[in-house]
Amino acid sequence: MLVGAFLVPALSFVAACGDNQATAMAAPTKDGRVAPTGEAQIAPTPSFDGKRAWEHLRAQVALGPRPSGSPAIGELRKYIVGQLKASGIDAKEQGFIAMTPLGEVSMANVIATIPGRRPDRLVLASHFDTKLYREFRFVGANDGASSTAALLELGRVLKARQNELTIDLLFLDGEEARMPEWRGNDNTYGSRHYVQTAQKDGSLKSLRALVLLDMIGDRDLLIKRDSNSTPWLVDIIWGVAGRLGHGATFSNQLTVIEDDHIPFLRAGVPAVDIIDLENPTWHTPQDDLEHVNVKSLQTVGDVVVAAVPEIEKRITSQR
Ligand SMILES: [Zn+2]
Repeated sequence: MLVGAFLVPALSFVAACGDNQATAMAAPTKDGRVAPTGEAQIAPTPSFDGKRAWEHLRAQVALGPRPSGSPAIGELRKYIVGQLKASGIDAKEQGFIAMTPLGEVSMANVIATIPGRRPDRLVLASHFDTKLYREFRFVGANDGASSTAALLELGRVLKARQNELTIDLLFLDGEEARMPEWRGNDNTYGSRHYVQTAQKDGSLKSLRALVLLDMIGDRDLLIKRDSNSTPWLVDIIWGVAGRLGHGATFSNQLTVIEDDHIPFLRAGVPAVDIIDLENPTWHTPQDDLEHVNVKSLQTVGDVVVAAVPEIEKRITSQR
């Protein structure tokens, strides 16, 4: 990621727990509908559990550095798919070859879908690659792992709800530049590939908004309003944060971020980046478990869970 015109965005195993399991009984859902036998019945509706997210973060860090094309990112991809499956969510890999300044790199996004009442889609996204460093060991506890961890936990929570919109969870490969500096097209490989593919196959039309998470785990979390993001989406999320008492974390200060949301914005998709780029451990060996915490994951998770219905309301009222 890049500030100025810029950007940047974890795992193991959290055992499948009992609060999310389907029962075989047919029972009325929240909206009074009777679900067919075999459809998941979830009660009570789970809330975002920062501790579960933390376990996803730790699991990722335990894999070591996870740059695009590495064996470790392949392990991470398996972890992501496995954890989604444990939450009852189907996922698929979207593989592609990226042409980078360091040659061709095999990459793959992970796309998971939680069907809603409508086919229109809200995409929640995070990059899961870590920046390539040869001079030190970079584990990306914040930059890569934190938002990926939150996205996995968001999937568990949202899967247990009846959502108005279909929700896609998008785990993006190749956000980080392969070269030391963020320049030109040497970044956002996964998001650009996803958007290009969706434009070609026509699926972009049903994509109504993107909420991107990136670097949300640092201890002194301060998330500024990104001027590149779509104002109505920023207003909804910052409004929810204020009502939940997180106005100090979701600051009204402005910043300008280049990140995985840019290809979506260029394609006409409303998008918001929830990111704290201005932390001292960014792209340093100190981006480790010592500098991230559960509280920050919990704050962002609670805000996004509460914002989803408001985003749905706004989108569905436009039609
Ligand atoms: Zn980064």
